[in-house]
Amino acid sequence: MRYAIDGSVKIKTTLSFDVVIVGSGLAGLYTALNVETYRTCAILAKEEIDVSNSWLAQGGIAAAVAVDDNPTFHYEDTLTAGAGLCDREAVNVLVNEGPKEINRLVSQGVPFDLDEAGDLSITREGGHHKNRVLHAGGDATGRETVKALSHLVAKRPNITFCAHTTFYDILLDENGVVNGAVVTRDGEFVLIETRNIVIATGGIGQVYRASTNPSVATGDGIAAAMRAGAEVKSLEFIQFHPTGLWTDKKESRTFLISEAVRGDGGLLKNADGERFMVGQHELAELAPRDIVARGIVRELEKSGETHVFVDITAESREFLEHRFPTIFEECASRGIDISKDWIPVAPVQHYLMGGIKTDHWGRTAIPGLYACGEAACTGVHGANRLASNSMLECLVFGRRAAVDISKSPAVTPGSVVVPDIAKRPNAHFDLGALRLRIQDLMSEYGYVIRNSEGMKFAEGQIAAILKQLEGTTSDDPRYLETLNVATVAEAILTAALARPESVGSHYVEDTK
Ligand SMILES: Cc1cc2nc3c(=O)[nH]c(=O)nc-3n(C[C@H](O)[C@H](O)[C@H](O)COP(=O)(O)OP(=O)(O)OC[C@H]3O[C@@H](n4cnc5c(N)ncnc54)[C@H](O)[C@@H]3O)c2cc1C
Repeated sequence: MRYAIDGSVKIKTTLSFDVVIVGSGLAGLYTALNVETYRTCAILAKEEIDVSNSWLAQGGIAAAVAVDDNPTFHYEDTLTAGAGLCDREAVNVLVNEGPKEINRLVSQGVPFDLDEAGDLSITREGGHHKNRVLHAGGDATGRETVKALSHLVAKRPNITFCAHTTFYDILLDENGVVNGAVVTRDGEFVLIETRNIVIATGGIGQVYRASTNPSVATGDGIAAAMRAGAEVKSLEFIQFHPTGLWTDKKESRTFLISEAVRGDGGLLKNADGERFMVGQHELAELAPRDIVARGIVRELEKSGETHVFVDITAESREFLEHRFPTIFEECASRGIDISKDWIPVAPVQHYLMGGIKTDHWGRTAIPGLYACGEAACTGVHGANRLASNSMLECLVFGRRAAVDISKSPAVTPGSVVVPDIAKRPNAHFDLGALRLRIQDLMSEYGYVIRNSEGMKFAEGQIAAILKQLEGTTSDDPRYLETLNVATVAEAILTAALARPESVGSHYVEDTK
């Protein structure tokens, strides 16, 4: 399928920008701030600035800035987490340019937490052998960073922020070069003429029943890039966070109990109070996330329970309120006093290591199409992401994409028309039910522990749903998201089936 739109779409408005950035998370904002100020730039966001994975990021941003650390140590930890599948050059770029980006953020007013001596407060998370995670607002690193950057964006006359604007499709000229985008705003279709599109649409959490990602994370950018012919890579590598706050209710987003809680002494226990991760890995609770997630799933299979616990009651109430204000408040609102009670947790979808394949400058194989942040696959994460490397990736590769865009031509207004596209019949099926079915299939067969028979079954079921969607259209906004969720889900399973061996986050029990 080439376009999500069909031939019945009426374009009411045409806009022109030198650069269109799809996404207002850290990757989108930072790319925009690094675009030369004489180039016009639009940032599109499906909702408002506070609905993104970036806004929710708790733990922090990893960079080798401590006196006893250096980029080589960060490089080694990243490669170890990536289970041998990282792109070494991309990791080199990440760890060496990372500290410079942190300095830029500090000088641009991101309020990182300081220690008593007034130096940057640096903590440790799973898989890191050194303290290298900077945080802001205690456990509100993403919110504080996005807030600071969005204030800077608001002061840039060349940047237009377009909230409540949904990106549908990428248009290419006769030479296969980007020349436009189709989006909706206030229920109307808008054509945007541009020579540069940056996909910074974040994660794909809504492909699963339980995810830490917000409702906008339906993989729209990845699906649109696939429709335009861009290559995707490593989609089988999905990080399941071991410690989503467990509840017996269905929630659109699962609240995360950050790894930093375990970094600061939180212990994983089963209902009998046993530390079941001890003996499974030298770092126990702080082992890489895939190992902890599998440890929990196996423990739950054994016990028949629905969740295990994080116990941080050894710390004082004062410390916890100050160090983890968001987690403290959210748990308190659910009747859990984390200074006295164990926190119920279970693994949930959290992060996509793969995505749209890019080079080290954010370029895809389609001229004018860039990707950065979670939607991209730069190769830095390999088969598993080292905690807190993703925000750093948004910064390093977002800036690099902006640098490369500086070599591109400016937009020529009046140069683009929407191509002739066949009309498709209206979809009369229940889009909500189809999406739930996909989420159930992915949560059953594409989860922490996979087997090839289950994945083949799910792939067949989802392919049939996708075919149904591709043969129809709808002006219901859920149509686009369901189509994209189905596109990405099928691609994840195809990638997972193409990798029979277990590696990193991709664990296949029948062929390991
Ligand atoms: C709860 C949580 C905690 C995390 N903690 C950490 C942490 O401590 N450290 C760390 O490094 N990483 C952390 N991560 C991961 C990290 O936050 C993300 O990988 C990173 O912020 C992704 O940034 P992004 O800019 O690529 O995407 P996002 O921040 O997700 O932004 C995506 C943007 O794309 C927009 N969008 C999507 N589809 C469309 C469309 N069709 N049209 C228009 N706009 C669209 C959305 O509206 C949004 O603005 C965490 C993630 C979560 C969910």
